[in-house]
Amino acid sequence: MKEKLLGMTLGELKSAAQACGLKPFVGAQLADWLYAKRVGSWDRMANISKAARQALAQRYDLGVSAPVGTAVSSDGTKKYLFKVSARTPDRTGAHPDIPDAGVDGERFVESVMIPDDDRFTLCVSSQAGCRMGCKFCMTGRNGFHGQLDAADILNQFLSIDEAASLTNTVFMGMGEPLDNYDAVARVIEVLTAPWGFAWSPKRITVSTIGVLPTLKKFLDGQRCHLAVSLHNPFPEERLEMMPVQKAWDIRDVIGLIREYDFSGQRRVSFEYTMFAGFNDDKRHADALIRLLRGLECRVNLIRFHKIPDFPYDCASDQAMAAFRDRLNNHQILCTIRASRGEDILAACGMLAGQHAD
Ligand code: SF4
Repeated sequence: MKEKLLGMTLGELKSAAQACGLKPFVGAQLADWLYAKRVGSWDRMANISKAARQALAQRYDLGVSAPVGTAVSSDGTKKYLFKVSARTPDRTGAHPDIPDAGVDGERFVESVMIPDDDRFTLCVSSQAGCRMGCKFCMTGRNGFHGQLDAADILNQFLSIDEAASLTNTVFMGMGEPLDNYDAVARVIEVLTAPWGFAWSPKRITVSTIGVLPTLKKFLDGQRCHLAVSLHNPFPEERLEMMPVQKAWDIRDVIGLIREYDFSGQRRVSFEYTMFAGFNDDKRHADALIRLLRGLECRVNLIRFHKIPDFPYDCASDQAMAAFRDRLNNHQILCTIRASRGEDILAACGMLAGQHAD
């Protein structure tokens, strides 16, 4: 298989050009076409000679491919389906409590574009499936099917109709971004570099359920926002829904986050999906207040979207409002997040990467 140019840094693109007997500035031209102009076809790279394009194409793929499916919600949210070249990962250093359930076959991932006035946010996938196994999540239910490389992730930005209009991104699609940290860090480099998309890190939010070793790497190495999927302040109850709790305790995750400064441009938020009778009462609100006390943060309450064979329902509107008010009354900024794209199975926890005709 040919190496992909998409996802390479400026230095790597220059080396790739030189490997084809071309001048390094051709690498800078490639960065300009791929990242600044978001052009994913050799034919449109007008200032690179035909002979140079042919030499490059013999050795490299651009790594750009069109989505294989789309669905549009009544609220304007749009879901894209991509075929990807996911690989089963190296298990070196993997935590024994996090299983590997790789299966062979074609891999598909979904991205969700969420329009909101003049804001266009892309929710991207970082893995084909997920091995974290959260019980309330369709992606987790379907198991793990391999890692995406940086090209597979960046292609989700480049190959959608709204590529030129995107203003923000959240790594909240399929997969646990910090379980594929090297590829995600490379994508963030391309998104924020002056030779890349030249985005401010403030436009990027990375979500995690708390993969402690790579969370530290992320906090040390990146300046973009962090969202942590918390869902229950009691460790033993959280473990019922989230096997990751056994590997990395949420109390240790929050302890680590407390070592960093979130009073400036970088923000941390906690995602809290609300299930009726499981995590939606005063006892949970008070425990959450104690857990987060003194931390500069926001809590987002999320409506649970029912999935098959899962015993819980979404908490009632009244329970969600009471929970929100209790947190706000204790100086923890809390909002109920609007649900988007539910009718096309694009809302939180509903992505399954299924290939529909
Ligand atoms: Fe994976 Fe996130 Fe789903 Fe958990 S909620 S299984 S981490 S995709």
